[in-house]
Amino acid sequence: MFGVGNPDATLMLVGEAPGAEEDRQGEPFVGKAGQLLNRILEAIEFRREDVYIANILKCRPPNNRDPQVSEVDACEPYLRRQIDLIQPAVICALGRIAGQTLLKTTESLTRLRGKVHHYQGRPLVVTYHPAALLRNPNWKKPTWEDVQMLRRIHDERLGR
Ligand code: URA
Repeated sequence: MFGVGNPDATLMLVGEAPGAEEDRQGEPFVGKAGQLLNRILEAIEFRREDVYIANILKCRPPNNRDPQVSEVDACEPYLRRQIDLIQPAVICALGRIAGQTLLKTTESLTRLRGKVHHYQGRPLVVTYHPAALLRNPNWKKPTWEDVQMLRRIHDERLGR
């Protein structure tokens, strides 16, 4: 499951790995978490067609376990190339695993969110994974704050 979206996207979202349904359909974030992701995007006035969505892993790990280092090593060059081709103004890592993996850190999501990092020379913001928000709606408010910040950085980078 490679990724999907607008090749001219100014915002790129990076999840962890395709789930079972995503693997079947060949499209990221198609389930309930995907619908919530669409609503999060709408809240900052992006349509799904405007953005590009990829995952760190291009295949689903067996039983949905966390990605292994060898799997990240195998897949990350593709993600880097996707970023080079699309040249997004900002990147949003969805969830702790995506954030930790891209930033090569073991810091908690609480510490990673709310600030601007960089990946592949581009600003990167980390926020909660939409599936986590389905389990814990208390995290919606901080997520909304994160994506407002994301929007602000995006607009600044594009001189809007
Ligand atoms: N979770 C992810 O991290 N990526 C998907 O594509 C779907 C669910």
